[in-house]
Formats: sequence, C-alpha cells, structure tokens
Amino acid sequence: MNIRTKLILNCMGIVLVILLAMYAYLDYSLKRDIGERITDELTVQAHLTRELLLEKLPNTFSYEVVDSFVDRLGTASDINLTLIGHDGIVWGDTQRDGQQLRNMDNHLNRPEVREALAGRFGVIDRYDETGAIWFRYLALPLIREGELIGVSRVALPMKDIDSVVGKSRWILLLAICAGLVFAILLNIITTNVTTRPIRDLTQATKSLATGELNSRVSAAASGHYGELSNHFNQMADRIEMQIHEISRERNLRDSILSKMVEAVLLIDSQFAITYANSAAIAMLNFPVHYQALSLVEIISDPGLKHLLRQVTDTEKAGYAEITLVGTTERETEVIVVPVADEYLVSLHDVSQLRTLERIRSDFVANVAHEMRVPLTSIHGYAETLLNGALEDTGANERFVEKILQQSARLSQLVSDLLDLSQLESGEVKLELRPFEIDEFQDTILALFEPVFEEASLRFEWRIPGHLPIVMADKQLMGQVLANLIENAIKYTPAGGSITISAEANESEVIVHVGDTGIGIPTEAIPRIFERFYRVDKGRSREMGGTGLGLAIAKHILLQHNGRIWVDSSAGEGSVFHFALPLQRRFSVTEQIAQLSQKDEAESLAPPEMDGGK
Ligand code: ADP
Repeated sequence: MNIRTKLILNCMGIVLVILLAMYAYLDYSLKRDIGERITDELTVQAHLTRELLLEKLPNTFSYEVVDSFVDRLGTASDINLTLIGHDGIVWGDTQRDGQQLRNMDNHLNRPEVREALAGRFGVIDRYDETGAIWFRYLALPLIREGELIGVSRVALPMKDIDSVVGKSRWILLLAICAGLVFAILLNIITTNVTTRPIRDLTQATKSLATGELNSRVSAAASGHYGELSNHFNQMADRIEMQIHEISRERNLRDSILSKMVEAVLLIDSQFAITYANSAAIAMLNFPVHYQALSLVEIISDPGLKHLLRQVTDTEKAGYAEITLVGTTERETEVIVVPVADEYLVSLHDVSQLRTLERIRSDFVANVAHEMRVPLTSIHGYAETLLNGALEDTGANERFVEKILQQSARLSQLVSDLLDLSQLESGEVKLELRPFEIDEFQDTILALFEPVFEEASLRFEWRIPGHLPIVMADKQLMGQVLANLIENAIKYTPAGGSITISAEANESEVIVHVGDTGIGIPTEAIPRIFERFYRVDKGRSREMGGTGLGLAIAKHILLQHNGRIWVDSSAGEGSVFHFALPLQRRFSVTEQIAQLSQKDEAESLAPPEMDGGK
C-alpha cells in the first residue's frame, strides 16, 4: 500500500468517525427535540381537556355519561383521551366503548396514573401491545374543589415522532454520505498534491536503484520537501559521479590489462581464478568459462603449487620460474603478489630471453674455442722453433708458414666476428646504390678462375643481362656472392661444377649458387645459418673456414630486407639462393634516371669486391 492510499484511508477513517459521531448526536438531539415538542403539545391538550372535563363531568361517574363525553372531547381535539377514576377504574376512553371499556384493567398501577394521583405530572412512553405501537402518555390529576376526582390522560402515538425522526435521519444520512464523498474527493485531491513530491522522490529513488543514474526530482517543491529533493539530487549527482569514475577506472584497468603482453590473473586463497586477461587466456589456453577453475589444475607444476602455497601462507610476494608444457615447452617467470583479499599472478614467457642468453653464452664459448685452436697451434710451433727447430733448416720455414697460416686464420676469425657484430648491432651503414647482378661477372671470374682451375671445377655464369636493377650495398652483396662461391669450391670435390644463375619475379631478384658437391644433411639445413655451425667441424677448419660465413651472409640480407635459404641433401650437391626485394616496378624514365645515377656513382667509386673470407 503506497503512502497516498494510506493517507487517504487514514483521513477517510477520521472523517467517517466524525460523521458517525455527528449522526449519533444529531439523531439523539432530533429525537429529544421532537419528543419535547410532542410533550409540550400533549401538555397543552392535557390541560385543555382537564379544564373541559372538570367543567362538564358529573360528580358521580357512569360509563355512559363519562365515556360519551370523553369520546366527543377526544374526537374534537384529535387525541386519545382516557378518564380514570381515583380508584384506577377506567370510565371513559376514546379507543374503547361498551363492554371493552368495562373489561379494561384497573389503571391504578400505571406509573403515569400513580404520578397524577400523587398530584404530579405523569409522563411515560409505553408500548401498546394491542395496537403494536409506542404511545406517549401524559396524565394530570382532576381536582375539583380541592378533591381528587380522577385522572385525565392524553396519549399520542410515537409513530409520528418515528416518522419525523426517520425522515430527518434519511436527510442526515444523505448529508453524511454527501459529506463523506466530498471529503473523499477533497482528500484525494489534497493528498495527491501534498504527496506528489514524495511520490516523485520514491519514483526517482526506485529508478536510481535500478541503475538509471540520471534520475532526478524536480526542485520545484518548497519547504521540507524542497530540501529533501535538493539533498536527493545532490546525493544522486555524487553517486553518478562516483559510478562514472569507478567505471572509467575499471575500463582503464581492463584495457591496460587486456593490452598487456604479460599474462595477468587474479586468484583467491583457494587458487580459484577470478580474473584473467586476454594474454593469460591465450597463453594458458583456457576454457571459455575459466572462473572458479583452479590455477593449479590448469598449470600442474609442483613449482607453481609450492610458490602459491608460500605466498598465501606468508602474504609476501614470491617469484619462481616454471616450464609450461603445451604444444611447445615455454620457460615462464611467475610473480605472485598479494592484493587485498586476492593474489595477483603474472606470467611472463622468458623462453626467448633464455634462448638468447644461451646463444650468447654458447657464442662466447664458441669464440673462445675457435681462438684457442689457432693460438695453441701458434704457441706450439713457436715453442718448437725455440726449442731447437729454428736451427732445423728443413722444418723451420714450414713451422713459420704454419704460424703465419694460423695467425691469418685468427685474423680472419676476428674480422668475421667484427663484421657479424657490426651487422647485428645495426652499426653497418648500407651504401645503397642501383646496380645489376650481372655486373659481378668480371670481378668473380678474375678472382676465382685460377681457383676453379686449381680445384678442377667447372664454372658457369648464367645470369641474364636484362634483370631489373637492384638497390643494395654492392660491396656487401659481392661479399655474400663470393662467400657462397668459396663454400661451393670448398665443399665440391674435383671434377664437379659450380653454377651461378639468377631470375626476377614481381617483387625480387633471386640469385642461385649451385654446386655438385657433398651436399648438406637434411637435419643440418635449419641450423646452417647459425654462427659457428658446421656440418663437419674438422673439414671446415681444414678448409680455413670460421663457421661464420653463412651467418654474415644472412645478416647482410636481413639488412637489405632480403632472404637467404638453401636446397640440399647429403651427397647431391647444394643450391644456395638469396633474394633482394625490388622496391617497385620502375617506369622507363625512372630506369633511365637510375642508370645515369648508376653511371655517375661508378665513375666516382669503381666497383670493389671483397674477396670473402
Ligand atoms: P665455414 O666457414 O665452415 O664454411 P659457413 O658459415 O660458410 O662456415 O658454412 C657453415 C657450414 O655449412 C659449413 O661448415 C658446411 O658444413 C656447410 N656448408 C656451407 N656451404 C656448403 C656447401 N656449398 N656444400 C656443403 N656444405 C656447405
């Protein structure tokens, strides 16, 4: 039941009680007034009839005389008149005649008669069984010459009073009903007006509770309601502001967490996941409904379990490194920090970092190892020379040559390492200029023709002359080409052949260096471009290789946004390919402009060719 209905009912209850009380009082006073009026009328009539009776009645009563007089008097004054002797015998009555009159009870015991016999004014209301009606009786003593001769009694039927009172009662009831209806209407209107601010406030509060943050009440009301409305509006403003602030912060937090590379989770003290960012979902391959799943069930690693127990027991941040087993094994750093009632778990994939660390330490070990071999050898020959071989004319020259050979190897190693480190660190500044691959032909032939002859190898240069011009560092590209040819010479037995060819497609120029040599076992192919990786270490060293040539070539191509790869299998020769990207197709005018730029560059700096390793 709302406040308006309550107020209306309360008010109606009060109005009803007041109207009923009024009705009861008016009904009572109406009855009393009419009764008094009847009594007054009766009194007047009683006195009149008494006077007439006293005047006309004989001293000795007889039924015939008294009754006929009483009847006439009653009819003339239109009242019920009874004449009773001082002994209670009824001598005359307007209602009864003859035998009926004679059979009437003695009236000595009637209260009004007794009163009148006692010389007083006797009035009484009595129900008449015969007529089934209430009568008001008024009796007066008949005193003639000081002697009580009887009692004169007049009576009026009360039905007149009842009909008058009944009529008035209806009018009263109608007035009450009209009053009630009017009161209800008035009440509804006033309640409506007075409770409007409260209803508005209730509605606004309901809306606010259901999340309509812009719900406000009009500040038109004055007095207490106005103050209440103002307070409500201020409160709603503050709630709206705070909720906006909270949701802004939550959105910010969510977007930061969702964009984080690290996997971040929140877990409760039972290790059940309450939040996971997208990186965590992707990393741990969660089911869609991960909430309430236990983290230790998803990652069943004893190290993690131990860490979580330790952090939940001590409430101090903890760190561990675990291996996540999935499609691949990932080394993962886990940091657990207590946050409020929960624990923030961050997982960071450090596999790459660890691999890099391993590569770096392997590299240092490899460099040390590669240097030790020539150094030991130099040291050995020098010692042998000092220990007397210097005098041995047959051996000393050979030993010194060996020392020279090993120091050249050492210097080659150092220069390769320097090249590699400069390429890796991006320190090498590429001198990009336009040229055609075909231009290397003369330099390559001049450099390697004697070697091919000495090694009994056939050499074919099949690079067409119309390939698109590439934009690259010509010296570095010459180094790559020379290195691949050197390797082909090294790993191709006498009688074999080496072929250089090239082609172009929409986006790049691809150069192929093929040989019919020993080839590379399939399992070694993915590692062939790693630093110091050699299929056969002994053979490579024997050939004076450092194991860095292909790694340098790969980095030179990476610097040019190009690529290098190999097709080979053991015993069937190898084909090394490298590709240089064409930035875009050039128009004829652009090609002419490039060619003239090329000529200009060549006139300034004649083509150089690093002889490789
Ligand atoms: P190296 O100085 O040992 O030649 P590279 O980096 O140039 O070092 O080559 C790495 C390894 O790749 C070599 O040791 C060799 O085992 C293999 N390799 C390179 N080129 C060829 C080739 N043309 N045929 C067979 N094996 C090759």
